[in-house]
Amino acid sequence: MSFYQTYRPMKFADVQGQDEVTSILINQAKGNTFHHAYLLCGPSGTGKTTTARVLAMALNCQSMDGDGEPCGQCQSCRLIREGGHWDVLEIDGARFRGIDEVKELAYRAHLFPMGKRKVYIIDECHQLTEAAWNGMLKLLEEPPPHLVIILCTTHLEKIPDTAVSRCQMFPFVKLKPEQIREKLESICKSVGISPDSRHLQFIAESAQGNMRMAENTLEQVCQLKKA
Ligand SMILES: [Zn+2]
Repeated sequence: MSFYQTYRPMKFADVQGQDEVTSILINQAKGNTFHHAYLLCGPSGTGKTTTARVLAMALNCQSMDGDGEPCGQCQSCRLIREGGHWDVLEIDGARFRGIDEVKELAYRAHLFPMGKRKVYIIDECHQLTEAAWNGMLKLLEEPPPHLVIILCTTHLEKIPDTAVSRCQMFPFVKLKPEQIREKLESICKSVGISPDSRHLQFIAESAQGNMRMAENTLEQVCQLKKA
């Protein structure tokens, strides 16, 4: 597994640089006042999909302890982390195109969840076809009470207004070099390597606010050192 996957945050508090977003979500989790639809938008590598997964964990965690964070240990949290939870579906907007797939998704949305809630995470949702949006809008308009839809996109301007208006919107911002560097340092510590601090600074600055890019670069540098 890549650094990006291995060191993916499992709690809202561990998502770097999006404090406004995560503090609202923590409050919702504390009060169990979740919305039925979210729109996470912003540049690549800023933590949208990661946050969507943590939110899916919080929505289904079997032992929330009042701090607004998923426990990360229960069966539900573990299955979501591994991508194998029966109620949490991650859909790639670029591949999700046919009418049959939309119908299937809508049908499944109405089936009662085995856990607490059904969660659909639609990544790169600006790539959905018109047919797919029509199906999605129906779900957003009349959602089954147990369904939560999390739309993620790098292109807010391409999302139909009718969808935007039905979601709670969370803008993600580019990460600052020091925030990226902090994460890179913690990865290096976990891996047991002590890189040159100038190298880390260079990686953090050249990533242009994209954490995933920085983590991938760090991984490549580590592989080069091993070779
Ligand atoms: Zn849990």
